[in-house]
Amino acid sequence: SAKSGGRGLFRFFEPQLDHQLHARRNLERDMRSALMNGEFALHYQPFIDVASGETSGFEALLRWNHPQRGMVPPAKFIPLAEETGLIVPLGEWVLRTACAEAANWPDDLKIAINLSPAQFRSPELVPVIVRALAAGGIAPQRLELEVTETAIMHDSATVFAALGRLHDLGVRIALDDFGTGYSSLSFLQRFPFDKVKIDRSFVHELSGPAEEARRIARAVVRFAVSLGKTTTAEGVETGEQLDILRAEACVEAQGFHFSPPVDSAKVAQMIRRRARAGARRTGRRVLAG
Ligand code: C2E
Ligand code: MG
Ligand code: MG
Ligand code: MG
Repeated sequence: SAKSGGRGLFRFFEPQLDHQLHARRNLERDMRSALMNGEFALHYQPFIDVASGETSGFEALLRWNHPQRGMVPPAKFIPLAEETGLIVPLGEWVLRTACAEAANWPDDLKIAINLSPAQFRSPELVPVIVRALAAGGIAPQRLELEVTETAIMHDSATVFAALGRLHDLGVRIALDDFGTGYSSLSFLQRFPFDKVKIDRSFVHELSGPAEEARRIARAVVRFAVSLGKTTTAEGVETGEQLDILRAEACVEAQGFHFSPPVDSAKVAQMIRRRARAGARRTGRRVLAG
């Protein structure tokens, strides 16, 4: 009968659903303790100024070093952190840690931090950022906050208000993963952006085999540049991609072609190397770092 068939179906799906809920609860429990146990870390990926080839700053990217699972990538735990609200304390930790790290860098290097939509719902967001900047003695102009189109469409009034206040303080706002969202051009125009980050799916196509895809990718880069904001191309992996971006007047680039995200010890090394190169250029002598 239909009744027993329904029950059979229910019995069939139940173990899998139960398994998923169980895995989710485990991950959530582990995430809560991870914050207290210091299992989260930040890696940093440089931004390169396309015209000069110089490093202009770093983006902080969250890593979870799980005692049993090993390195858990952000795509695996950030969505759950957003659903459970854990992204608020976790995001505050990211803001404080990244600003403390950037306090050790030369003043001309920016620090970029990714924000989740859920963080904007916390009335603490702006005060946390102001305190993190003050604690590190960092000028607001050195901080760049990365938000996605999807994030701002979600709760645009709340996000708009917070971004407006931060922008007034001098903090830079970047639109991440540009080209992958669904927002209208007029919607984009209303937000106080300083920068667009061209999604790596388009950068990838710039030097791809398909003519059609290459033309679309070029159009997206051109459009981002023509918005009159500064631009960063994400996921640059080849010299050919870089050459096209330079020809299109893209301002900055980021990707494995230059460096993957690295830990803070490597960042310190890169900064020392940069200082030595700078000293050589200006003919100054520096002590070996
Ligand atoms: P995103 O902000 O767009 O970061 C760029 C992602 O592309 C990073 O992945 C980076 O490691 C990767 N990537 C960089 N260069 C290349 C390249 O040349 N080729 C390829 N294939 N990939 C490249 P990751 O670190 O796994 O982060 C994924 C996403 O997780 C980020 O995308 C961001 O949306 C989110 N995320 C990371 N850290 C945080 C955080 O602290 N807070 C929040 N809310 N989200 C974060
Ligand atoms: Mg980003
Ligand atoms: Mg991105
Ligand atoms: Mg992305």
